[in-house]
Amino acid sequence: MKESDKDLGMNTAITRRDFVHTAALASLGAFLPIGCSPQADPGSTVNTSAGYPPLRTGMRGAHPGSFEAAHALARSGVEFGNARTLDEEYDVVIVGAGISGLTAAYEYQKRFGADARILILDNHDDFGGHAKRNEFEVDGQTLLSWGGTMNLEYLSFSPAVLGFLDELGIDVEGLNKDLTFQYGGDKPSIWFDEQSYGESVLVKDFSMYGRNLDVLDVIRDFPLSVEGKTALYTFYTEERNVLEGMSEEAIHRVLHQTSYTDFLRDFGGLPNDAVSLFIKSMDGYWGIQTPCLSAAEAMKSWLPGAHLLGPHAAKVTPAIESEQVAMFPDGNASIARLLVHALIPSVADNVTADNVALARFAYDKLDEAGSSVRIRLNSTVVRVQNRDGGVEASYVNAGEVVGVRARHCVLACYHAIIPFLCPDLPEHQKEAQRYQVKHPMLLTNVLIKDASPLNDLDITGVYCPGRMHAKVWKIEGVDTAGYSAGAAESGPVSLMFWGMVAPPTHDGPLQEQLRAARHHLLGLTFDDFEREVRTVLDGLLGPAGFDVQTDILAITVNRWPHGYSYSYMDLWDPEWAAGEAPHEIARKPFGNISIANADAAASAYTQAAIEQAMRAVAELT
Ligand SMILES: Cc1cc2nc3c(=O)[nH]c(=O)nc-3n(C[C@H](O)[C@H](O)[C@H](O)COP(=O)(O)OP(=O)(O)OC[C@H]3O[C@@H](n4cnc5c(N)ncnc54)[C@H](O)[C@@H]3O)c2cc1C
Repeated sequence: MKESDKDLGMNTAITRRDFVHTAALASLGAFLPIGCSPQADPGSTVNTSAGYPPLRTGMRGAHPGSFEAAHALARSGVEFGNARTLDEEYDVVIVGAGISGLTAAYEYQKRFGADARILILDNHDDFGGHAKRNEFEVDGQTLLSWGGTMNLEYLSFSPAVLGFLDELGIDVEGLNKDLTFQYGGDKPSIWFDEQSYGESVLVKDFSMYGRNLDVLDVIRDFPLSVEGKTALYTFYTEERNVLEGMSEEAIHRVLHQTSYTDFLRDFGGLPNDAVSLFIKSMDGYWGIQTPCLSAAEAMKSWLPGAHLLGPHAAKVTPAIESEQVAMFPDGNASIARLLVHALIPSVADNVTADNVALARFAYDKLDEAGSSVRIRLNSTVVRVQNRDGGVEASYVNAGEVVGVRARHCVLACYHAIIPFLCPDLPEHQKEAQRYQVKHPMLLTNVLIKDASPLNDLDITGVYCPGRMHAKVWKIEGVDTAGYSAGAAESGPVSLMFWGMVAPPTHDGPLQEQLRAARHHLLGLTFDDFEREVRTVLDGLLGPAGFDVQTDILAITVNRWPHGYSYSYMDLWDPEWAAGEAPHEIARKPFGNISIANADAAASAYTQAAIEQAMRAVAELT
């Protein structure tokens, strides 16, 4: 096991450094109190791909320059003072260029006319919100991957959402038919790393999901106590009904008021070392760990246990919607790109849903004077007010506070920031918005020189119960929308490191855990992620000839401190009466301001972002 930074190759030149708007950050610093200075990646250099955000590597997602103004406002109470009012008038100003904000613009045009003047402001250097695309360019080949949102669970879509996708030319069933991708790889394995388990053990052909009856032999290789392995064996093989003789109320308590890890202990008979195997198994899928999921939520997400429920097993059957999905090679960034193309056709020629994956967008067309729709990036909105029959919004761009006027405003940003943008909102509405704490998420894409070590080991993906990223898998099988990456048998390939950053403790209310995890995530530097990636690849692939000092070509960290929308959980939230759930109160219109974003549905899905944009535009008068 290599431990020193030198042995891990931390000093090697890879494309990993951020392109940072140094001048913009420096001038922004003037607004910020001590201790709140812009966070630049130490050692940043200008990346040759500076003009094209999807190619940028290093720290992405909440990249340096994207969050400092909002944090100054929300955390430090900075007042941004008088804005320089622009000589620009809009029909609507939209805060947030995620799927919801872009859909709001599209719907606004339909409702108020194709020539409606629309300004979309976003704090990032790329549009799409969570629907971001990562690209690696290597030896003339483009390799695509997800920077955030991945799939469309289209079987659960409403007719309105299906109609909307159809208007964009998206054939969800066709996208599904062309898919051979499987989350975590089609040959799932577990890798126990030396730092956490005392020895490095790769156990092939074992998935954490389902019951795994036919591969029980492999359990003997797990570096766990004999007691833990025996209990795991019994857990998987014995069919029992642990709910036998219980009242409906008691059954409900076991399934919905018991955490999955307690269920494994109390009803599955597993000791702690066996239980701990499951703790990270839902990191990427839920954005919270299994001690915070109820037994039913975990089993509905394919974790084992239903075979202990007798006739009640049907209560925890996973929904088919989550299994049959449509996918673009850059995830739902393709939807964001199709929307941007529909709003500003000059960004790229002849773009359709069948070729959008390969289209190169001209970012200098996004904010052109004379265009009826303008998307202004690197612009953090710090105030929105109803004024004189319209709205005034001010935002920080390149260190300057700028004001614009519009007839309407749609807030398509996450809800927790809204009380700071609109302090005049009623107190109970602001309180509801504060309830909506997003789940922090993490996706790190790593370009390696050659796929051979994975192929030699005969693995496509591993679950890593002891590491920061819960899963690592080879990106392949999403050859849709004009893109084809082949089977990646050899040559450069990108790997997805998928998951979340765990909170320091699972004690205390879920929202506090999520805030603590976010804090932790934001406190990590690029070097921390790079060291983690190198340690994992060295331990996992080193035995198959992977040279950690030379075989990593690029790293892109997509950190999402405000990731999945807060949705109501068995263990943490009461049953709200109709109309009284926080998201229903939080999204109420306020004068000429209406409120979209997936938060408005308390649902971390693309379809929620689309539907809430439709509602928010329909509410404008
Ligand atoms: C890692 C990850 C994976 C996911 N995977 C899936 C998936 O596979 N399938 C699925 O259906 N859903 C998935 N989701 C959920 C889905 O991405 C979201 O529900 C949806 O994209 C949210 O869109 P939105 O426009 O509502 O919000 P966002 O995408 O968050 O967009 C809001 C935008 O507003 C910006 N903003 C916030 N405050 C301000 C401000 N003050 N000024 C300017 N801009 C501001 C934000 O930075 C952001 O860019 C995933 C989410 C994450 C984080």
